[in-house]
Order: sequence, then structure tokens, then C-alpha cells
Amino acid sequence: CGIVGYVGPRDARDVVLEGLRRLEYRGYDSAGIAVVADGTLTSAKKAGKLANLEKVLADQPLPAATIGIGHTRWATHGGPTDRNAHPHLSADGTVAVIHNGIIENFAVLRAECESSGVEFTSDTDTEVTAHLLAAAYTALPEGPGRLAEAMRTVSRRLEGAFTLVATCVAEPDTVVASRRSSPLVVGVGDGEYFLGSDVAAFIGHTREALELGQDQVVEIDRTRGVTVTDFHGATVQPTAYTVDWDA
Ligand code: GLU
Repeated sequence: CGIVGYVGPRDARDVVLEGLRRLEYRGYDSAGIAVVADGTLTSAKKAGKLANLEKVLADQPLPAATIGIGHTRWATHGGPTDRNAHPHLSADGTVAVIHNGIIENFAVLRAECESSGVEFTSDTDTEVTAHLLAAAYTALPEGPGRLAEAMRTVSRRLEGAFTLVATCVAEPDTVVASRRSSPLVVGVGDGEYFLGSDVAAFIGHTREALELGQDQVVEIDRTRGVTVTDFHGATVQPTAYTVDWDA
């Protein structure tokens, strides 16, 4: 239901949790966060209010990080439990995904993953995207934009409405997102970039925003900045605007 992503010099844990707090008004049943730091991807998730997640984080803190993603869930597939909360990780633990919306064709994709030996750890429609992303990423050559290309590959196969946001252990400066029929905005700060299901997620940090269109993938990267393409890789110029309301 709510999505936050961050790339920049601040501690991503703080930025992501603050963003989730600002999105609480949307309603949710679970919350979670993933960060990449020092060559590891770590995550925490918990059913119930953000306070429940914060308690988990107080007991088992995630490392300080400069990229992170966070999610508040409104369950559609799979009950509101800890294991169904997002992020969902690929079986090899290299990719973390959060998702708003519904993947209509998840059952077919899940069967495909299971037939190649993947064991699922949730009942969500979302988890399949983590496994598909890890497989697509592995199949691509090394180089800039690899995670975004994997996201395009996977997005082309998905039916339904989705905002998907992903991080990868091998990409400590990059967060990518994909959008179809579900909201996603980009915040552009001074050497830092934000993703949100709405501007409330980052309004405390920047008022400069980019609006994405349908069927687009965005990469926010610490050095390369913001790159938007369609699902086939053609570069798109996003619409820039300044948020002029108080949050
Ligand atoms: N369909 C996904 C799930 O049930 C995402 C729900 C949401 O938009 O929060 O986990």
C-alpha cells in the first residue's frame, strides 16, 4: 500500500522509516524494510503497525546503509502475517522486492519457478517477482543499468497492476522501480533520490518531483542520477514538477 525508496548519503534506515510513517494514513496491515550495506542485503518485516517493525529493529538492528526500501502492505494474496509481509527476497538472498498492487498471472509464474526448484516462503502474488528478478539479473552481463534491465525483463512478463521496487546486493548505489497502473513518484534532492507511492514519502527532504507514466522503469543511482525508460529500454523524459503543498 505504501512504498519508499532511498539512495543518498543519509542513513537509509531513518529515511525509509520516516517515509513509512508519513504514508501510514493510507492504511496497512504489515510493514518491512530492506537495506544494502557492506556487500550484504538485510531486511526486517512484521505484521501489524509500524511500531511492531520498530520493535524488531530495536532488538535486531539493520546495519547503517545508504540505500534502502520500505513497504506498508495491504494484503490481497496471503493473509497479513509476518512471512507474507514485504520485502520478499529471492531464494539466493541477492534481491529484495516490495510491491503495491496485484500480479494477476502470479500462479503461472510461480509454477514456472517451482518447476525449476525454487521454494517459496510466502503466499503472496509478489514473491515470484523476487525470484524472476534474481534469475534475470544473473542472466545479464555485468555493467551499469543491469538491475534496471532485469526489472524491464520481468515487468514485460507481468499482468495486473503493480509498483515494484527492488534492490540487489551487488548494486550498493542503485534502487530500481517499475510501474503499471499503480502510483510511483520520484523525489530529486541534492545528491539523493527518493521513490514513493506518493510525495508524502519524501516531502520532508525535497519538493522536486518527477512523475512517471504507465509501463515505465526508473533507476535511481548515486552517481548516474535518475534514468527512466519504457519496458523495452527506450529512454523517457519524465515530467518534472515542484510539490507546493504542505505535508
Ligand atoms: N498483492 C500484494 C500482497 O498481497 C501487495 C499488496 C499491497 O499493495 O500492499 O502482498
